[in-house]
Amino acid sequence: MSIAARPLFAFDNSYVRELEGLYEPWQGEPAPAARLLALNDDLAAELGADPAALRTPDGVAVLAGSATPDGATPVAQAYAGHQFGGFRPRLGDGRALLLGEVVDVHGRRRDLHLKGSGRTPFARGGDGKAAVGPMLREYVVGEAMHALGIPTTRALAVVATGEDVVRETLLPGAVLTRVAASHVRVGTFQYAVRGGPPLVQRLADHAIARHHPQAAEAEHPYLAFFEAVVDSQASLVARWMHVGFIHGVMNTDNMTISGETIDYGPCAFMDAYDPATVFSSIDHGGRYAYANQPSVAQWNLARLAETLLALLDAEPDAAIAAASAVLESFRERYDRYWLAGMRTKLGLADARPEDGELVADLLLTLQAQRVDFTSFFRSLSAAVRGDAAPVHALFSEPAAFDAWAQRWRERLASEASDPAAVAEAMDGVNPIYIPRNHLVEAALEAATDGDLAPFERLVDVLARPLEERPGLEAYAEPAPAGFADEYCTFCGT
Ligand code: AMP
Ligand code: MG
Repeated sequence: MSIAARPLFAFDNSYVRELEGLYEPWQGEPAPAARLLALNDDLAAELGADPAALRTPDGVAVLAGSATPDGATPVAQAYAGHQFGGFRPRLGDGRALLLGEVVDVHGRRRDLHLKGSGRTPFARGGDGKAAVGPMLREYVVGEAMHALGIPTTRALAVVATGEDVVRETLLPGAVLTRVAASHVRVGTFQYAVRGGPPLVQRLADHAIARHHPQAAEAEHPYLAFFEAVVDSQASLVARWMHVGFIHGVMNTDNMTISGETIDYGPCAFMDAYDPATVFSSIDHGGRYAYANQPSVAQWNLARLAETLLALLDAEPDAAIAAASAVLESFRERYDRYWLAGMRTKLGLADARPEDGELVADLLLTLQAQRVDFTSFFRSLSAAVRGDAAPVHALFSEPAAFDAWAQRWRERLASEASDPAAVAEAMDGVNPIYIPRNHLVEAALEAATDGDLAPFERLVDVLARPLEERPGLEAYAEPAPAGFADEYCTFCGT
């Protein structure tokens, strides 16, 4: 008598059950020599999976996309999208599959998704593959974002396929297993429009149940749903801005309805503060530059609003008026989230009318002197503790900082709080370790050449970004002079 092995995951696939018309059933391609490069044990446990089972050859074959686990219903999801402003009616998972969904140990429904598992009906000219470097990049940056408390999709695993993929050079191929609250995107709604209002409504009902259930109780559920998406994106983008994160490719197919960050392609963290910072080699016009991210998010949300109009009101003018009012609230919501976060970065607990100007003047000074954004905020807590030398050392002309710091100290003193507690609170929000671009690149290069140690060390450091640890000084340093000027990231790899 044989005892049936416990399934790897307890799947329950609501997307496939509820959203016919928004996917194509599909299978991954076999990987010639699958080998596990990285497994996220904590996340596996959160999903109710046994990490040891995922490390077995059968487990690795599932993570490579070449075996379908019990209970999975793999599909390529359909979506459209505006890419750099131009509408593409049919994008979809060209090299990815939704394996299925699991309800995790906290009761949250999570997608399991494979990226790099082979061509699908949406592949167009693409090869359906992914390379080791970019998949490990998604792993390390996503985990860093998660550790910073920023809503994000996460990586469960990266498996090397044993096959070379053709890019500018031959690179080792890989498959990433991504975990997300869902993969429903603004672009999914844009695609659903072709099915008419009933399909959009089915998608909206699915998204409401999964991500914004309170909207179902509202007087106008679809308007409340739109408002919830607007609010979660306003909050998300503010969180990015607080840590100097630049997504790099904020196309509508890369914006989730859940409010999670998705698709770590040409993303990067800014070193010296400059609102015009762009890293992506394909973003020639700077459309997705650091400072543009809030307005791009709002632009994308306008595209979402267009898909929902028929659900909002039978009268088109009334539907447009209702959607516009919510859309216009984006800026106020964003500004509120942003300023609240900037206050905590500066150690301020109360909200005062002069705070906006205090922050704006600081940012102008940081920009003028090309000060490292992360180091600046982290070193400010030492100044609260009585040692201004570290923050001073970041300015070529410290007098400008001193003038600003005088105002900041007065503002802090007006709250009459204990300096030690203020400094500690600041260290609780201003990271010391972020995925520095030069360190990420070095780790990925080593991994591509077969040495995973720098990648593993980096993942480990970034898992606790707020906690200063001896021996990790190099991880807190900005890139060597000249690196940032040359640095650019690539998309679609
Ligand atoms: P991304 O830039 O990763 O958000 O991808 C945009 C679109 O291009 C999506 O439809 C992807 O599935 C598709 N895509 C990107 N790379 C490939 C590839 N190598 N093969 C097939 N489709 C791809
Ligand atoms: Mg994408």
